[in-house]
Amino acid sequence: QAKTLGRNTYSFFTKAMNTQMLRRFKVEEQLHGALEREEFTLHYQPQIEVKTGKIIGAEALLRWHNPALGQVTPDEFIPIAEHSGLIVAIGKYVFNQALSFLKTWQSHTEKPYTMAINLSPRQFRDTELLNLLQDSLNKLNIDAQQIELEITEGLLLGDQTHIQQALQTINDLGFTLAMDDFGTGYSSLNYLRKYPFKTLKIDRSFIQGIALNTSDYNLVKATIAMSHSLDLTVIAEGVETQQQLAILSKLGCNTVQGYYFSKPILAAQLLELSTQQSAE
Ligand code: C2E
Ligand code: MG
Ligand code: MG
Ligand code: MG
Repeated sequence: QAKTLGRNTYSFFTKAMNTQMLRRFKVEEQLHGALEREEFTLHYQPQIEVKTGKIIGAEALLRWHNPALGQVTPDEFIPIAEHSGLIVAIGKYVFNQALSFLKTWQSHTEKPYTMAINLSPRQFRDTELLNLLQDSLNKLNIDAQQIELEITEGLLLGDQTHIQQALQTINDLGFTLAMDDFGTGYSSLNYLRKYPFKTLKIDRSFIQGIALNTSDYNLVKATIAMSHSLDLTVIAEGVETQQQLAILSKLGCNTVQGYYFSKPILAAQLLELSTQQSAE
């Protein structure tokens, strides 16, 4: 009996693994050439200042539609792009698109909006990247301070000397450094002390619970207090309800982002939304 069960379990896992590997293979196969076939689009999710209720910036979020696979989520394709190195070229596309839209957005509205861009570990190791960024900013006449580079704790696990240097360079060039998904990784506090972060983004998983359980509420409260004592700006991710917003506002959270205000939207929609808001 045990033997049969064992064998079935084994074949169950093998099947699941094969399916997973096959999917991964297909995704990677389609990912090659996706840039050339122009299958990517950038969406932008507005970031709202709690104090004023106004849009102060946006986060650029990549979307991929492939004819064979349909819509593939970034949580699925970014790790594959990362592993295969394709992320370097894809990341350049993201920078170019996001910066040129930021320029349009700022000049349309005459407001100093910020643009947040996600950086994955492989991109971060690409020494060319910062030069590229710097060049585009010069060309577009955008202030580096208006670009927020979001990194996750995973990126900080590695050669500490190199990481320290790279983060220092980012900071010296004037970019704003944000810690994304705060609370989901390890040793976060040490990183906050050690590296030049200016912004901390509290992960959605904590925001979800703030109106429902005291432990999430207390954790968020403590995180906001700690961030402020370290002079960090706090962004709450994944705000979906009025109640969550009210709590965050009471706790002194600076900025919010989430479906309660808007899903990630196309550039033209964001332009329209912010023009509407300035007219109010
Ligand atoms: P992230 O940087 O933490 O982005 C936040 C994610 O939460 C986005 O998912 C966003 O659509 C989603 N979100 C925002 N508000 C809400 C809400 O109120 N409720 C819910 N349920 N979700 C919300 P998305 O766009 O699927 O991106 C997933 C992850 O993929 C991102 O997490 C980021 O790590 C990565 N990613 C996306 N675009 C890029 C990119 O251009 N470059 C790199 N390197 N990574 C990217
Ligand atoms: Mg992010
Ligand atoms: Mg996040
Ligand atoms: Mg994330």
